[in-house]
Parts: sequence; C-alpha cells; structure tokens
Amino acid sequence: MVQLSKRVTNMSPSATFAIAAKAKKLKDQGIDILSLSFGEPDFVTPKSIQEGAIRAIESGAASFYTPSAGLPQLKEAICAETLQTTGVKYAPTETIVTDGAKYALYLLFQVLLNTGDEVLIPAPYWVSYPEQVKLAEGQPVFVETHAATKYKVTVADLEAKRTVKTKALVINTPSNPTGMIYTKEELTAIGNWAVQHDILIVADDIYGKLVYNGYTSVSIVSMSEAIKKQTILINGVSKSYAMTGWRIGYALGNETIIQRMTDLASHSTSNPSAVAQYAAIEALTGSQQSTEEMRQAFETRLNQIYPLLMKIPGVTCEKPEGAFYLFPDVSETAKLCGYSNVTDFASALLEQAHVAVVPGIGFGAPDNIRLSYAADLLVLEAAMKRIHDFVIEKM
Ligand code: PLP
Repeated sequence: MVQLSKRVTNMSPSATFAIAAKAKKLKDQGIDILSLSFGEPDFVTPKSIQEGAIRAIESGAASFYTPSAGLPQLKEAICAETLQTTGVKYAPTETIVTDGAKYALYLLFQVLLNTGDEVLIPAPYWVSYPEQVKLAEGQPVFVETHAATKYKVTVADLEAKRTVKTKALVINTPSNPTGMIYTKEELTAIGNWAVQHDILIVADDIYGKLVYNGYTSVSIVSMSEAIKKQTILINGVSKSYAMTGWRIGYALGNETIIQRMTDLASHSTSNPSAVAQYAAIEALTGSQQSTEEMRQAFETRLNQIYPLLMKIPGVTCEKPEGAFYLFPDVSETAKLCGYSNVTDFASALLEQAHVAVVPGIGFGAPDNIRLSYAADLLVLEAAMKRIHDFVIEKM
C-alpha cells in the first residue's frame, strides 16, 4: 500500500457524517432508526430558489465556468444582504463565494497559517475547525468553556491561552453545537482584545438567522470599524435557506486575504457550481418568507421537545437560543444506565433504542450528546420517548 501524506494521517473523519452513515446503514437493513444526527434543515429548498436554478439551466447561463470568486451579481447580493443584517459595508472585491461555508473556512486557514501558528477554538466547537487548522499545519488551541456560563469564552479565558504564536480566533454565534448566542457586550470585549493583540477573528455566522424566543444574533463585525477590519466574516445559504446540498458559502473581509483565497480556489475548485450560484442569488434577493417560516418551525420544535428532554433522568441542558441543536450533558444519565462514558451510551441509544445522536466527544465535550431538531416534530417526540423509556429500563 502506498504511504499516505503526513497531512491526512492525523485527520479524524467528521463525527457527524460518521454517525449519519452508521444510522443510514442500520436503516437500510430495515431497522426503524429515528435520526437526530443531521446538521441540516429537513426542509426542501423553497420553490422560488429552485426556479432561479431552473431558469439558469434553461437559459444556458449555468453551462459555463464563473469567476473563481463567484458571479458578480451574487457578490453584489451578498454585500447587500450583509449590509442589511450587520449594518457593515463590504465591496465585491472583499467577497468570495465558495463551495459551502466549510470551504471558505478551509481556504482561509490555508491562506493564513504557517506551521505551528496557533488558532484559538472555544470548546465545544464545530467538528471541522480543528481538522481544518491541522490540515493547514496550524495548531488548534482549545479554550474550555462551561455550561454555567452558556459555553461562551471570555477575554480572561482567551488571554490565558494567548501566546506569541496565536494568529486567529474562531467565534461561532449562534453556536453549533451549543445553540448559544454571544451578546453585543461579550463580542465587543472579545473583538477589542483581538484588535489589541492583532489576532484575526474568524466569525462564523452561518446560523445568524436561526434565532428563537426573542433572542437576536449580532455579528462581531458590527461592533466597531476596528473589529470589522480584524475579522473575516463567514456565512452561507445552507442553513437559512435549506440549501445544504447546493454548496454555497462565502467570506467577506480584507481584500488581500480574499484575493489569496480566490487564487487558491482557482487552482482547486475553479469556482462553485454555477447553477447553485444562480439559486443563491434568488435566495438572497427574493422573498425571505420561507426562511421566516422555517425559523418559526424550528422554534416550535425546540419549545415542544426541550421539556421532554429535561424529563429524562440525569439530563442537564441550557435551553438553546439559536441554531437547531440541543447539547445536553448526559454524563449522569449514562452513569445511571451503567455506561462508563457518554460515547458508549450514545452507541447504545443507536443500537438498542434506535435513536441516532452525535456523541459530544467530536465537539470537544465528552459529557454531552448533540441532538438536532431539524426533524419532523412527530419524529422528535417519538425519539424523546424512546430515549426516556430506554433510560428508565436501564436504571
Ligand atoms: N459552520 C458551522 C458552525 C456549521 O455547523 C456548518 C455546517 O454544518 C458550516 C460552517 C458549513 O456549512 P456549509 O459548508 O454547508 O455552508
């Protein structure tokens, strides 16, 4: 067998994709699995967006390569949308369209990091941040947070981990997996600290539109001009427009960084799929009614299932404010059921209760599991009942 690169030898596969694949395998064997493992809306892309794509196919516009940084009309739409949601103005030259927000992050870390450069990642974190940093030969430095402080980092936490090698900091609000949202005050303090120490802020706002029960999400770029200049803003259409399969994300910020990301994209993907870019133009410039309806559906589901989750013995969980995940600490529940760790408990939930959840270990939180409520309410209620009954039976 040929020797693989050192780069991929230490890479872990995505924990969320791995559990989804395992659940699918069991489903294919005819087992009735209820899956709460998905990181994507369960809705179909709204009709008007589909029609934008169909028009682009039929007119022939979608047949050709686009500029590497994306279609000019889409970049204009992204700048207009970002101005509307953050109050911050970006020029199209400060914008790149990418194959999902995931690839925007990948390009950014590749462009930014030299061997050993450190990136501060608040834990719990989205599974891909550390792997992408490592693929760029950077060093992920985890900043631990606690349920009692809603899993949010403070300047003191960050300062304790800062070294001369610290190059960037990831801030994801609303957060996957915790669903927590940073306040303006918290973001201002973190932003000022990053400016003071010249640490680049990677602001992942992908769940910015999915907020519930009166909470609002603000972007760190809105805090001040200096903080905006210190930040690369990451966003995309996957989560807010039910468009995960289309693969359209984007990054906004310093023109030189964006240009180098574009150069790298020009040698790797050339450009994001043209038809998906036309669909994204429709998403960003068309009616926002479907996005609001989906948000309301997520809110209803959250409010319905959170109390059911809290009835399961041993579970503790802050009620999420945004995104579409619950991230309970189930270490006590696992113990009550006779499991020595939460990962084994999560495996038993899949194999015996037939409910797929993602073990928190992949998110840097071994006491937790992640449950996605991007599923039908009936499925969610049935899954909660299965978990509840499983725990009662094992206790
Ligand atoms: N950032 C976070 C926090 C996410 O949860 C995801 C998807 O799961 C992404 C970025 C990437 O989204 P996409 O590549 O679909 O745009």
